[in-house]
Amino acid sequence: MKIIDILKREEMSLSFEVFPPKKETSYDSVKSATEEIAKLKPSFMSVTYGAGGGTSAYTLDIGKNIKDNYGVPLLAHLTCISSSKDAVKAQIDAIKAAGIKNVMALRGDIPEDMKDEDRSNWDYNHAYELIEQLKNDDYDFCIGGACYPEVHPESENQSEDIKSLKTKVDAGVDFLTTQMVFDNNLFFNFMYKLREAGVTVPVVPGIMPITNANQVERAIKLSGAFMPQRFKAMVDKFGSDPVAMRQAGIAYATDQIIDLYANGITNVHVYSMNKPDVAKGIYDNLTDILGKRF
Ligand code: FAD
Repeated sequence: MKIIDILKREEMSLSFEVFPPKKETSYDSVKSATEEIAKLKPSFMSVTYGAGGGTSAYTLDIGKNIKDNYGVPLLAHLTCISSSKDAVKAQIDAIKAAGIKNVMALRGDIPEDMKDEDRSNWDYNHAYELIEQLKNDDYDFCIGGACYPEVHPESENQSEDIKSLKTKVDAGVDFLTTQMVFDNNLFFNFMYKLREAGVTVPVVPGIMPITNANQVERAIKLSGAFMPQRFKAMVDKFGSDPVAMRQAGIAYATDQIIDLYANGITNVHVYSMNKPDVAKGIYDNLTDILGKRF
């Protein structure tokens, strides 16, 4: 099933993101965690893709298992930076052969040791080039793209970032998913600016439940996201008590999701980080709202 058809529905829903194992020894535990999340029957699940391509085969193995054995529509992530056109084509063909209909088309982060290189002869510099490659009638994919309510770190300012985003969407993006936000107002303000700039595709907000104080630093480093005072107070108060922090983090994410639903967003994407207990905790808080019982 194509994700764009799910996003056109009026009913509220949740989708979850998981990541593939980095090494063979963790394959079984990651696979079983993703299966537990799939059993919640989210609207769709996404599986990330290592920028260096190290986990490329696992993205498809894990994704195909979720789709074929649990009936959950699947979004396979794909990055292109520092890859050749041929290598990317081989991965696109493998996604198609696995019967996956949805691709999240990403550039990927520029590796630290390549940041100063002359990139003029690279096969890809930006995600729109991958999107043009995917936008081929033989493939017929539903294509997702990434967007940044708090501005991508390489952009000079928000208007430049949104201008580039418009180019990317015009290359063939069907929907966008945001970088994590901890303050919904930033998401709503971003939405106004996107619509003003003529970006009209559905935008799915990404919510990261922080259930462990150690996650905070990494989440900020990865996303540059603003931490509202009430979020910081929560981590200050409960961060040293893992059980309390887990409950508080699930409650904070649930509160954000309810506010998004209340303001007209129908599908929220949860960065569930291979944690079935967290995914289930959020789902359990929303059963009456979503009308689902497990
Ligand atoms: P782009 O759209 O190319 O944007 C990158 C920068 O270039 C931005 O500053 C943009 O404004 C600018 N730009 C874009 N087009 C142009 C243009 N035509 N001219 C000039 N400037 C331009 N990383 C992974 O490795 N694996 C994953 O699975 C993964 N999943 C992600 C999922 C989501 C929802 C998000 C938000 C991010 C994800 N990332 C993932 C991280 C992502 O790869 C990085 O943020 C990366 O630095 C940018 O990728 P992009 O696709 O947004 O790139």
